[in-house]
Amino acid sequence: MSESPVTVPQKQHCENHQRCMEMIQAVLDGSATPEEMEHFKNNIESCLPCIEGYQLEKEVKQSISQKVEKKCCPGKTVDDIKKKIGLALSLAALFALQYSIYHAAFTI
Ligand SMILES: [Zn+2]
Repeated sequence: MSESPVTVPQKQHCENHQRCMEMIQAVLDGSATPEEMEHFKNNIESCLPCIEGYQLEKEVKQSISQKVEKKCCPGKTVDDIKKKIGLALSLAALFALQYSIYHAAFTI
């Protein structure tokens, strides 16, 4: 067993997370240079905030592209939309209710 051990994320805090995230977005956009790709691969294995950031960015990008490409949304996105619609509807209902109360109060 002289193989190199599986790399476990070492860094709990990223000292240059802003730059890391720019690099991650470039990689996900496909606009990263080969040097950036190489740096990204080396960095992503050791930096926990970057791994999380990368996965989050990837999920966001995937859900956006799925929304654009398909008419059908993944369950998570549908739930999000339902929540937003539900909130908008309950706000609208609240306004309508308030309006009818005021309207009734002023006309009677
Ligand atoms: Zn980092």
